[in-house]
Amino acid sequence: MSEKKQIRSALISVYHKDGLEPVVKLLNHCGVAIYSTGGTHRFIESLGIPVQTVESLTDYPSILGGRVKTLHPKVFGGILGRRDNIADQSEMQQYGIPPFDLVIVDLYPFEKTVASGAGHQEIIEKIDIGGISLIRAGAKNYRDVLIVPDAKHYAELLEILGADTCFVSEEERLRFAAYAFAMSSHYDSAIFRYFSGLTGYREFRQSNGNAHLLRYGENPHQQGEFFGRLDEVFTQLHGKELSYNNLLDLDAAIALISEFSTTTFAIIKHNNACGIASRENLVDAWTAALAGDPVSAYGGVLITNAVVDEATASEINKLFFEIILAPGYEKNALELLQTKKNRVILQAKSFDFQGKQFRSLLNGVLQQDKDTKSETPDGLRIVTDKAPSTAEVADLLFANIVVKHSKSNAIVLAKNGQMLGSGAGQTSRVDALKHAIEKAGAFGFDLKGAVMASDAFFPFADSVELAHKAGITAVIQPGGSVRDEDSVSYCNQHGLSMVFTGIRHFKH
Ligand code: 5GP
Repeated sequence: MSEKKQIRSALISVYHKDGLEPVVKLLNHCGVAIYSTGGTHRFIESLGIPVQTVESLTDYPSILGGRVKTLHPKVFGGILGRRDNIADQSEMQQYGIPPFDLVIVDLYPFEKTVASGAGHQEIIEKIDIGGISLIRAGAKNYRDVLIVPDAKHYAELLEILGADTCFVSEEERLRFAAYAFAMSSHYDSAIFRYFSGLTGYREFRQSNGNAHLLRYGENPHQQGEFFGRLDEVFTQLHGKELSYNNLLDLDAAIALISEFSTTTFAIIKHNNACGIASRENLVDAWTAALAGDPVSAYGGVLITNAVVDEATASEINKLFFEIILAPGYEKNALELLQTKKNRVILQAKSFDFQGKQFRSLLNGVLQQDKDTKSETPDGLRIVTDKAPSTAEVADLLFANIVVKHSKSNAIVLAKNGQMLGSGAGQTSRVDALKHAIEKAGAFGFDLKGAVMASDAFFPFADSVELAHKAGITAVIQPGGSVRDEDSVSYCNQHGLSMVFTGIRHFKH
């Protein structure tokens, strides 16, 4: 640890005077010469502690309604001048600049003023200029100056000053400099957010990549930001700015569509597919996807892995939707889709985003690998007397992909490459199935010969029983329940086939 330096002089300019009393008393006890701005000066004087005004140093009063108080070479020279630099020292002597070893600032409460619903002019006046400059100057010259950028650090300040009669180490000054830059960047970010709200200018660069300030978070009263490179994911061809919820839906949509190699169309609502179908021809895939749940499709996020042609675009055009994402658009298709102002049209650059997934909770962050494990026909284990037909195997794998990308507990019912019904995000598996059956019925599907996929094992035979009664003939599930045998024997007794994947796909 480097040698400690004594604090001999301090500049104090604080908006809130609370908590300052023990600090100035201790400084006085150490014999520190204190300089202060108007209100702070009056406060310290009222405590009976000797203090000098900044004006006495600068020969300038506080001017422009307080906008210029400390912005003067005699103040900033005293903070920024390097004590071990001969040229700095001789200039400080030449211009009569006394050094400051400690700077204490509490900024104008900008965020509180905005939150209070104050008017624009009042908010503007709460942009602290001199104070933020004092903070940055003190932090820059941390080798000579201890900078305290916020009243919340007074306790720690008292601790280090008290421990050694106002001698502080470079490590301590460096740590407070870090507090200072945390404060100044937070403060300027808050000002940026306010100006962003005034102008609509949202994108700003941060040292660690791109940060996109979103209009708001999940709800209008929540602030939202995205950290990442959306330009690597897609090009926006048309429409308004993407929202927080749009990005969540796009993430779910891309993860789902990336699993299909044949022409597929999916409609996403609240992170789940409400319709999805694979067909040889795109317009047929769209029609079949929409038929899955034309009610939920309203306002949805549309995604396909094929280039959108004019025939498909003219069908899609009939629906009110938020976003469409496709690898490409034929010229006429794009022109047609662009006729409505508010929809967002995105051209995908990639559907392949592997790697890690993060989620914040409590006071930390969860991290895991993305669920990129998928099932192949060879990986399926037939556990019933009856084997699924070739067509059923295709549908089982189709339904299994969709269920994997639906919120748990999830059940997906499908036939001929089309989702007929789904239950997602339910608290019980059997509820998810009931919901799926009910939806399929509501949209006119006959479940005879349909297949069922479950994202996790069946704890009881009740689900296969319900499925059988609804007409389902084949089931895909991970297996692994202590009661697997109950479901398997029910299937055997009633002529259903069942395959185990051995891979659970919870998505909470
Ligand atoms: P006081 O109550 O001491 O008169 O003012 C303290 C406040 O003024 C602190 O919040 C400090 O950050 C701020 N401040 C100090 N110097 C300047 C300056 O030159 N311009 C502006 N706008 N604020 C300053």
